[in-house]
Amino acid sequence: MRLLLQGQIGYRLPHFGTLALYKELLRAGVEIIEYHAAQAGPDRESETLMSRDLVVLRPEGLYCEAGGFFIDPWRPVDRAVVTHAHADHARTGHRRYLAAGEAREVMHARLGRISLQTLQWGESVKQGDVRISLFPAGHILGSAQVRIEHRGEVWVVSGDYKLETDPTCKAFEPVRCDTFITESTFGLPVYRWRPDAQTMAEIATWWADNAANGRASVLLCYALGKAQRIQAGLARAHALAGPIVVHGAVAAVNAAYREAGVNLPVACGVTDWRRAAGGEAPLVLAPPSAAGSPWLSRFGESSLAFASGWMRVRGARRRRALDRGFVLSDHADWPGLMQAIEASGAQRVIVTHGFEAAIVRHLSERGIAAHALRTEFGGEAGAESDGEVPSEGGLEASPALTLDGAAPASLLAASPAEFGASEDRRAATPPAQTASRRTS
Ligand SMILES: [Zn+2]
Ligand SMILES: [Zn+2]
Repeated sequence: MRLLLQGQIGYRLPHFGTLALYKELLRAGVEIIEYHAAQAGPDRESETLMSRDLVVLRPEGLYCEAGGFFIDPWRPVDRAVVTHAHADHARTGHRRYLAAGEAREVMHARLGRISLQTLQWGESVKQGDVRISLFPAGHILGSAQVRIEHRGEVWVVSGDYKLETDPTCKAFEPVRCDTFITESTFGLPVYRWRPDAQTMAEIATWWADNAANGRASVLLCYALGKAQRIQAGLARAHALAGPIVVHGAVAAVNAAYREAGVNLPVACGVTDWRRAAGGEAPLVLAPPSAAGSPWLSRFGESSLAFASGWMRVRGARRRRALDRGFVLSDHADWPGLMQAIEASGAQRVIVTHGFEAAIVRHLSERGIAAHALRTEFGGEAGAESDGEVPSEGGLEASPALTLDGAAPASLLAASPAEFGASEDRRAATPPAQTASRRTS
């Protein structure tokens, strides 16, 4: 039996049943063939945080009043703590930025010459009345969870995260806190990832089959994070079946990753590939925006695939007329979200961007205080938009990047401006020892 669902399931379900109904349908083998992830309507469940809270919602974004800074703000502000370099979290126009040291190169590649202060993992800085420290989120290179401590109370803002280990970034590290602000991009029980090694093996087999038939293998994937994870993952699995050709947007990010010390296999641009004798059938990595472009037509006969968490749902594959869909996400799946929430030990969970309602309901049924919060992250309906190259622009159009993949050295230089009181830095309290109300 098939069931066609219109609208964002996370929002609609509570109106005609409970999450239990949804689970029952899945258990009974009903194939849910469509999630039309329309923008939620005005009835969207969202709640303004109470003003006594350490982090509140302002028109500019999530704001910490006691510290006088924003986290991943969507409008220009004076002080922005940025969890990671994806376009919906790291925007241009802020006066001062604070991010993880591991993110320095990608931040500059993405945003150009900005005033950026960085923190090592676990290092803390005092800002206003609070202490800020950053812990790995495991999402892409340099992605951080922001830990904010104020008079013994601890909040953690997750940014985007995943629990699966990834050779291109530091693994997610649980941080104990009182309140956990979590993303929910794939916050439905249907989203469950298989181990990376399995997906890499599938990609390798598809590539080898195509090569045997003289076809190029075109794999669409987000230029920042996903493309590098695939390259490193295939290399680690010793599954390189020929040359890798990358789109300019991917090459530019590759350069920043290499600059940061990440090991990636050799990849070339389309011109070098054509020049090379033999011209073996390549694996081509390009952002989704390159689909149907003249750039892709240069590879002649090819098989088209997409690597994304959305490929878990069959309808998504059909809509894009793909030959293959590889389920590979840089976000936590449903069990991952639940595991991270539990590991935080938080008494209160605030859920942002994604399927908020499903998680809120699930946690509430288990006696955990939870509510949704409307943010402007991941704004593109139906797509894993962060990491996506904005249409006709983004990385390719950015003055900070050149298409041959070289990030100008001047942009990679450290900026002198300070975000907070650096002389007051000290090692942060190890997360496991962080005071949590739950322990008392
Ligand atoms: Zn996000
Ligand atoms: Zn992201």
